[in-house]
Formats: sequence, structure tokens, C-alpha cells
Amino acid sequence: MKSWRERARHMIDSQIRARGVLDSRVLSAMERVPRTEFVPEELEPLADFDGPLSIGRGQTISQPFMVALMTELLALPERTRVLEIGTGSGYQAAVLAEMGMEVVSIERIESLANSARDRLARLGYPVLVIHGDGCLGYPPKAPYGAVLVTAAASRVEKAWTEQMGTGSRLVVPLAVEPGLERLLVRVKTVAGFRDGWSEFCRFVPLLPGLGEERPEEDGPS
Ligand code: SAH
Repeated sequence: MKSWRERARHMIDSQIRARGVLDSRVLSAMERVPRTEFVPEELEPLADFDGPLSIGRGQTISQPFMVALMTELLALPERTRVLEIGTGSGYQAAVLAEMGMEVVSIERIESLANSARDRLARLGYPVLVIHGDGCLGYPPKAPYGAVLVTAAASRVEKAWTEQMGTGSRLVVPLAVEPGLERLLVRVKTVAGFRDGWSEFCRFVPLLPGLGEERPEEDGPS
């Protein structure tokens, strides 16, 4: 079996750079973060697969390209405090932490929040993982220099834009029709908000409230 570094270099060249994400800070962080640690053991051979993978509880770790694109779209200054909604496996949070960002990440399913918290700590990533409803943001650490939503939202929650600092960016997959989203990039300026649109995409849905620990509520584990 090839080392993760070798697999990562190929993943980055063929899936990410080839599709136009060129930010070297993002690419080198993705080369360093061992994605194999963020997928279920039986899926390790597929850790560099060009799509999302199941992580249990009906949830997924996002496609590598999507992680790279959203991270690039945040255009993060050094050492920015980033709020992530939808911790999932913790992979996206690890990529941000690897880039030197201060990361706060919220997950509504307690078992996923706990395992992501343990995994990130074991790998040495200082991420604050909160079990909570990301629709409310996380006021104790606001304002944020960036907000990243990694689940499909039907609207931009007021809490997110309220908790953004001036000059910060929000990146969110916003539903444009059933089963299809498009990445919205919203910049908070002194004069108000400026919006731009990026790629179309598909994410698992952003759900309100906390996730029940009953598997039938959230899909197979
Ligand atoms: N960023 C993740 C992938 C996210 S999948 C990774 O790198 O692995 C989307 C995640 O958002 C799921 O784990 C889902 O449970 C979570 N989620 C959905 N609605 C949420 C909400 N309201 N608050 C917090 N997390 C939510």
C-alpha cells in the first residue's frame, strides 16, 4: 500500500489542481492531513476517492475537491477564527487547523461530535468541537473571521451573519432546487453584504435542532 502522502499528491493533482483549485496553502494542508484517519476503517483504501464517503449515522465526509474549493473560497487571512457548521468526521476542521486557523466546529449528532473531538485531539489538531445546533452559530467565540457551512442549507441563518466580523466571509451550499445546491460566498463589508456564486454541489441536509441518538432518525450507522 502506498503512503498517504503519495496517495494525497495524486489526489491533489488529478482531482483538485486539475479542476482549478490552486491555493498552495490549501493543497499543502490537504497533503499533510491523513484523510485515512477520518474515514471508517473498511473505507481506508478509498480515502482518496473522488466523492463523498459514508461515515455512519447517514452522514458523509465531503469529496476532497469540495473541501479544497470551499476552503479556497474562504480566502482566509493568517490565524483566522473559523466557525464550521457540520463537523461530521472532523476532516474539514483538521484541514483548517493544519493551515493555522483557530477552528470552532459544531455538530448536531452527539456520537459524531464525540468521535470527531477524540480523533482531532489524537492527531494533535486544537479544534473546539461543540455538540449543538449549528443554525444558532456559537456566540461565545464570535465574532468569526469566516463561517463555513458543510451541510445543505435552505436559507442563510441570521445567527451566522450576525456572528461574522467585518471583512469576513461565509461559504454555504444553498439549496437552489430539491437535491441541488450552489455555493454562496457572502462577504460582510462595512457597507453591508456582497454575494457571489461558485459551483453547484450536493450535500447532506442541514437539519434543525439536535440529532437523536436513535439510528432510525438519522439513517443507518
Ligand atoms: N465537514 C464534514 C462533513 C459534513 S457532513 C467533514 O469534513 O467530514 C454534514 C454534517 O452536518 C453531518 O455530520 C450532519 O450531522 C451535520 N449537521 C446537519 N445539520 C446540522 C446542524 N443544524 N448543526 C450542526 N451540524 C449539523
